[in-house]
Amino acid sequence: MAMFIRVEVDPKTASDAALAKKLVEVCPVNIFALDTSSKLKIEEDNLDECTLCDLCLQAVPDGSVRVVKLYE
Ligand code: SF4
Repeated sequence: MAMFIRVEVDPKTASDAALAKKLVEVCPVNIFALDTSSKLKIEEDNLDECTLCDLCLQAVPDGSVRVVKLYE
């Protein structure tokens, strides 16, 4: 399946349990998940479901998550 966006998470945010949990909660299409050590991981299979809602950007400190569009 085609992938139209890439989500980048600052490593400090990805390993911050509280912020990681918040990201998992806010994304309506489950792009964020926790791995077995409660570190944030990106569900690559769900990336093309991103609605560009920006909820993830609002949930964390500025710049720690980036949603990069791979199309014009
Ligand atoms: S912009 Fe919305 S849908 Fe896309 S990753 Fe962030 S929270 Fe999820």
